[in-house]
Amino acid sequence: MNRPLRMLLVLTVACSMPMGCGDDARRDTITPPEQPNVDDTSRWDGLEPLIPIETGPVFHVLEGYDQRWVDQLREGIQRAIDYWGSYGPTHVWIVGIDEGSTLDEVAKQRFLDEYCTWRTEGTDIPLEFCLEHAHRMFIEPVQGGEPEAYLSEVRETELRMAELVFINVHKWHHPEDAIPDPVLRGIHEYTHVFQLSVGPMPTWMMEGGAVFAESWLPAVDGRRDVKFNMERILERAKRMGDPNLTIADMEEIETAPPHVAEHHMDLAYDSGAWATAFIVHRSPTRSVNDLRDRFYPMVAEMGWKTALPRYLGMRDTSEFYEAFETFMSLPADRQVAILDELEP
Ligand SMILES: [Zn+2]
Repeated sequence: MNRPLRMLLVLTVACSMPMGCGDDARRDTITPPEQPNVDDTSRWDGLEPLIPIETGPVFHVLEGYDQRWVDQLREGIQRAIDYWGSYGPTHVWIVGIDEGSTLDEVAKQRFLDEYCTWRTEGTDIPLEFCLEHAHRMFIEPVQGGEPEAYLSEVRETELRMAELVFINVHKWHHPEDAIPDPVLRGIHEYTHVFQLSVGPMPTWMMEGGAVFAESWLPAVDGRRDVKFNMERILERAKRMGDPNLTIADMEEIETAPPHVAEHHMDLAYDSGAWATAFIVHRSPTRSVNDLRDRFYPMVAEMGWKTALPRYLGMRDTSEFYEAFETFMSLPADRQVAILDELEP
């Protein structure tokens, strides 16, 4: 393909907190030095959605990392695939150093080679350039010790691809959790893979949809009450530091001004998850499956700004935002009560 020589990663997601997902939407563009930085465009410019794909994600794991974390991530990803369907091509990259272990140099090099062999195939990206990038992308955060999860997109290949990255997964392990947190991270990130098969949607809808799925799917499975996490994030959303900001300010994290971006957790994740519940509750069927089967296809067909009001029988997105703001000002018990009225 005759594309500019560049390597572009748009990191839409990074979860670093045990609950509620510390996604840190960020854009990480690296360009070989001889090229100007040409990417200042929206995430979706010139991109085709991911496609339905029968083969599931390909997993790549740093040798020696405890299989337990891989199994938990796989469980969450598979649960999300069972619900949303399989899209891709998707590759999952899992790295970490277990407590008390050290990074094995041979395993590290094998992992980086595996990543860059895949990542540069069919592109103009020089291998050594990728290796440097991969070191910053995987090894530095591993050594930093913080957990991270995100979805990024591979744009340079003919077929757009998704890569899910999970770093220091063991840090999400809390023995008291009824559902291991890495399972929820898997659900969350794979929900984004499905969303990338739909088309452009606002940040609050992407993150809110993924956080809602973390609560909804375990509830459908009878593993945890849907209210468990939704109540907690409602408290956080209601405590939002800046009362003048709403999800309407969080349509695109990439271009949000700093005073908005600093509240992206409350706005995109916490309020966004409640906006998702609100959409379902205001829809004629109150069915969450209908969101998948009817709403998202409408988004794909006509764009979210037309699909959302049409799905809810509203005039436009402004009417939706106003209705949601009214809902968010209700007492918490009345808000939480809508969760009992949602249908599968
Ligand atoms: Zn996310």
